[in-house]
Formats: sequence, C-alpha cells, structure tokens
Amino acid sequence: MKILDGRWFAKQYHKWIKEEVETLYPKHGRRPGLGVILVGDNPASKAYISTKEKVAKKCGFEAFDQFLPATSTFEEVKEAIEKFNKNEKVDGILLQLPVPKGLDSNALISAINFKKDADGLHPINQGLLQRGDAKVKSCTPLGALKLIDLAYSEAEIGSELAREIPEKDLSGKLAAVIGRSILVGKPVASMLLERNATVIQAHSRTENVKDLCKSADIIIAAVGIPHLVKADWVKDGAIVIDVGINRIEDGSLTGDVDYESVASKCAAITPVPRGVGPMTVAMLMKNTLECYKGSFL
Ligand code: NAP
Repeated sequence: MKILDGRWFAKQYHKWIKEEVETLYPKHGRRPGLGVILVGDNPASKAYISTKEKVAKKCGFEAFDQFLPATSTFEEVKEAIEKFNKNEKVDGILLQLPVPKGLDSNALISAINFKKDADGLHPINQGLLQRGDAKVKSCTPLGALKLIDLAYSEAEIGSELAREIPEKDLSGKLAAVIGRSILVGKPVASMLLERNATVIQAHSRTENVKDLCKSADIIIAAVGIPHLVKADWVKDGAIVIDVGINRIEDGSLTGDVDYESVASKCAAITPVPRGVGPMTVAMLMKNTLECYKGSFL
C-alpha cells in the first residue's frame, strides 16, 4: 500500500517550479508575482495565507498582500482586486476563501482578471475546463489528480524526483467522487472525465453512496464529514483520495475517510493532514507560474 505523501510530493513541485523560475527570470527581468487578499482575521485563513506566501518565496516568486478588515464593503474588496489586476508585477491573484458573510464571493471571484486567476475559480476558467481548454485549473482538484498520477506511477515516494510524473490515462477506470461543490467536487469530476475515467458523482441526495463506491477504482471524498468512507465502502486495490479537512473534538484534523480501516484495503491513500492540502498550495504556485508565462505571450 502506498501512502501518498502530499507534503513530500508538494516539495518536489516547489523544486521544479523554482528551477523553471530561475531560468525564466533572467529572460523576463522579473519574477512571478503572487498577490493574496485576505478579508477579516479568521485564524485558519491567516495561517493558510502565511503558508502560501512562504511557499511562493521558496519557489522564487515575489509575494504581495492586501489585508482588509472584516467590515470591508464589496466595493472595497473589489477595489483591492482591481489594484492587483492592474499591477504588472502580479501574475496570480488569490482571494482567500471564505470571505466574511455578506460579501458575494462569486461576484468577487468574477472581478479577478481571468488571466490572473491563480485559483482557477473564475467562471471563464471553469467554463474552459468543461471544454478541455483550461490553462489554469482549480488547485485542490488539480492536486488530487496529481496524487492519482503518483499512485499509478513507479515513483519512489520519499526520494528526490527528477521531473514531473506523466499524466495517467484513466480509460476503463471507474471513479467515484463524493461531493459536488464548485470548489472541489464538480471540477475534480470534469478533470477525471478529461482523463477518460468513467465518473460517478455522489452528493447529499444520492442513495446508497456506499454501494456506488464499492465498485470504484478511484474514490475521491470531498464532503466535510469525518470518517464517512469506511473500509466496507472500498474495493480491494482502490486508490483513495481524501480531500476532507475536519477539526474534531480533540482539536486534531481528520479527513472524510476512516484512514485506519481503509488503508489496509487500498492500493494507495492520502493521509490527512499532509495529503491533498500541501498539493493545493503547490498547484497554486504552478498556476501562478502559468499565468506569468502567459503574460509574456
Ligand atoms: P461543500 O461545499 O460543503 O460541499 C460538500 C459536498 O458534500 C456537497 O456537494 C454535499 O452535497 C456533499 N455531501 C454532504 N453530505 C453528504 C453525504 N452524507 N453523502 C454524500 N455527499 C454529501 O465542501 P467543499 O468546499 O467541497 O469541501 C469539502 C471538504 O474538503 C471539506 O472538509 C473542506 O474543508 C475540504 N477541503 C480541503 C481542501 C484541501 O486543500 N485539502 C480544499 C478545499 C476543501 P450537496 O451538494 O447535495 O449539499
């Protein structure tokens, strides 16, 4: 059984991205720029922003930030987005979600120049994903797909990898996605379809989710219910990607998959934490690099 160590895999991406940045920087005379916007002082969001800025610097990027009070109006947040839209040093813009209640996050995401949409959540980029033409794809789903590639690869987990693992054609594979959010469930299903998998998309109104999962070669859980997926939901040899991040009573983080029981049945599984989470951040950097390269075309 392979433990899909997202922290180690993400570090490989940081290294590959940094190498590319160091070859492009002398040619273009500036580094890729990531602009982050945080509205309010949610402690979890502050921690995410600080990690993203640290990783951006590790990848050789410049990081810019704008911190706005929780009382900011829609117009004030939009103005901050416009500032980054106009700033030629900012290639990728990240609006940290969730934004405080009362602010329309969809309208704010739509205000980001789609060419600077490092999170891949702009409606144009989501539409391009449906057509198979997206240059940037939502970070968490993209990270999940990279972990599936890792699961099918011969790569030795923990050792230094020389280059990105090739994308796996998922023809003939049945994938069960649990969850249908715009952030994770829907784009991950589109990406699996793009790779030729046959996709079941389950949600809160689906009956017999367990039975649907039992025949799947790949399960992606993106629900937000601790330990929902149990060993008897999983067929022997399946690949299990746990997107869920849930804080439980003792204060620790756990996923949507009952890791202890499921791990003994599957061929590969992501832990929580240190699975999909670090890959989400690595894909944010990959997207920012794509936006940077796109700005010189
Ligand atoms: P969300 O918007 O709340 O969506 C949850 C989805 O789960 C919905 O589609 C919902 O169905 C479905 N669902 C709820 N109960 C269900 C059940 N009993 N059986 C089957 N489906 C059920 O959440 P999200 O933004 O997609 O995030 C999901 C989880 O991933 C959360 O734990 C979140 O913290 C985590 N997350 C992690 C990362 C990362 O980087 N690792 C990034 C983003 C999110 P309906 O549509 O019918 O309501």
